Amino acid sequence: MNGKSEAFYCLIGNPVSHSLSPVMHRAAFKAMNLNADYQAFLVHDLKGAVRCIRAHGIHGVSVTIPFKESVIPYLDAVDKDVRHIGAVNTILNQNGKLTGFNTDARGFISALQEITNPRGKRVVILGAGGAARAVAYALIQSGAEVIITNRTQEKAEKLASKFSCAFVPWNNREKMAADILVNTTSVGMYPQVAISPFDGRYLSQFELVVDIIYNPEETRLLKLARQAGAKTLGGIEMFIYQGAEQIRLWTGREPPLEVMRQAVKEALRDGS
Ligand code: NAP
Repeated sequence: MNGKSEAFYCLIGNPVSHSLSPVMHRAAFKAMNLNADYQAFLVHDLKGAVRCIRAHGIHGVSVTIPFKESVIPYLDAVDKDVRHIGAVNTILNQNGKLTGFNTDARGFISALQEITNPRGKRVVILGAGGAARAVAYALIQSGAEVIITNRTQEKAEKLASKFSCAFVPWNNREKMAADILVNTTSVGMYPQVAISPFDGRYLSQFELVVDIIYNPEETRLLKLARQAGAKTLGGIEMFIYQGAEQIRLWTGREPPLEVMRQAVKEALRDGS
């Protein structure tokens, strides 16, 4: 820990070396004139890591793969969104009381609302993993009609049943008529940048195609969607908005979105 910093924040996960959270949060704290530090910790022993958070009075924590679900039993409380989504990506430490939050849902919807209001729109979600749960929850809360499709069908069925929405078999995904397509799978993520989870020939029907992958900035799916004439939204905006929400929870202050955006884009360009 940096003894000079008044407040200490960290990321716990495994792996963490690829994460852009440290770059984004350090840039934000600096612009906010906060005497705070943010470090990434590669964690093997989750229980021990949570004990350290308490022992060292770490103010706030970001949680990433594979601990978003398994951290819940170690916390003192969770908020309403976590109860619905079943995953924590943020911990707030208030005098030793650890509360879990999920800012992915709000991050996704804030990014989406910059482009369109999903109320009443039909949205196909590709994927049924952790991110899909936050995205589906956020969309349903916002009044969208959601259809889930996933390579492993039982996971799509389980998620659809949890949120009382529809699912379609993965092989039928291109046959669904909808307004918005959201990719929450890892298909097309660096280094597998040449593949797309959806055939480009069926993209022109969508008003908007969203890919929550942020590396690369424009995935193969988004490139195909742009060429098909659809509006596109990449994962950087969701990432920034979920990080901004973390800063609001941790500091009670308004985060410098543009500084965070530039820091993330620069780090992606530098390949860090
Ligand atoms: P996860 O829980 O491991 O889920 C991965 C999903 O991808 C599953 O639905 C999986 O399907 C699907 N998948 C993987 N390989 C596939 C393939 N070859 N063909 C078809 N489907 C495949 O991961 P996650 O936490 O949800 O994250 C998913 C993606 O979202 C990652 O790229 C992550 O970086 C991104 N993400 C971005 C943000 C942001 O702020 N922008 C936030 C969170 C996550 P099966 O169930 O069949 O395995």
